Amino acid sequence: MNRDQEPSGPLDRIEVAKGRHASVGGVGVVRVLPNRSRRTVGPWCFVDCILPDEFAEPHPLEVGPHPHTGLATVTWLFEGEALHGDSLGTEQLIRPGQLNLMTAGQGIAHSELGVTAAGRGFQMWLAQPEATRHGPSRFEHHAELPTATFGTAQATVLLGTLGDAVSPAVVDSDLVGTELRLRPGTVEIPANPRFEYAIVPIDAPVRIGEAIVEPGWLGMVPVGAELLMIGAGQAGARVMLLGGVPLEERIQMWWNFVARTRDELTQAWLDWQNQNTDRFGEVNSTLARIDAPPPPWIRPNNS
Ligand code: MN
Repeated sequence: MNRDQEPSGPLDRIEVAKGRHASVGGVGVVRVLPNRSRRTVGPWCFVDCILPDEFAEPHPLEVGPHPHTGLATVTWLFEGEALHGDSLGTEQLIRPGQLNLMTAGQGIAHSELGVTAAGRGFQMWLAQPEATRHGPSRFEHHAELPTATFGTAQATVLLGTLGDAVSPAVVDSDLVGTELRLRPGTVEIPANPRFEYAIVPIDAPVRIGEAIVEPGWLGMVPVGAELLMIGAGQAGARVMLLGGVPLEERIQMWWNFVARTRDELTQAWLDWQNQNTDRFGEVNSTLARIDAPPPPWIRPNNS
């Protein structure tokens, strides 16, 4: 049978998209999601990575108090340390290998301060489902996370389940977030056929199915895969593997807010600019509060 006539599987339909450079709190990042072809992978709606070659002149991260709605922030460092403060009263130092998970619900505010220069890692967002996005905010720190071994690969499970490893973190939808350390060669990672997946290499390119994904790029695997074949070259590779059931609802994202309509985004902007502490609380921080820019669909008042 001619290969072209075979039904194509999920690993034959991988989309690869290049991230774009951006700056967050004076630190250079590569934003791999959203990208030109995809807004979400499962509930993952925002993935920023700080990659080693981005650090010609490292600055410590400094992000003053700012709000979020309708999303959970997932912070994962490889190097450096950062101090998280939020309007629930949390003050939490995060180190490499630890997870900070902050769920905004209807509203939260937080600040992030790098305590060492040249922090490296990932800052990611999960869109909350309708059932919880109007609910209370919460924060979790996990200093210890479960690991699983697949052939020569080791996985640290930040969120959800992979193999026998189950993260203790509480999430609002069916998803997985892991870091894989690959040795040279190819391994098979079990996949949930209901999930779509994103592969984000950190330090070296990897092969997934027939696609090569470089650091700073995102490889997207559609639903239906029961195994992910991931290969690394002579240096091995570290990658983030993120997945989840595709979002049923179409989300709207603007600035630090996730919602469903522009009216909701406008209300979140007004509430933050009017210092509505019933909604967002207050953050005890030495850094200056960050003003929200006006949404582009709001016309300035001309007198
Ligand atoms: Mn934030």
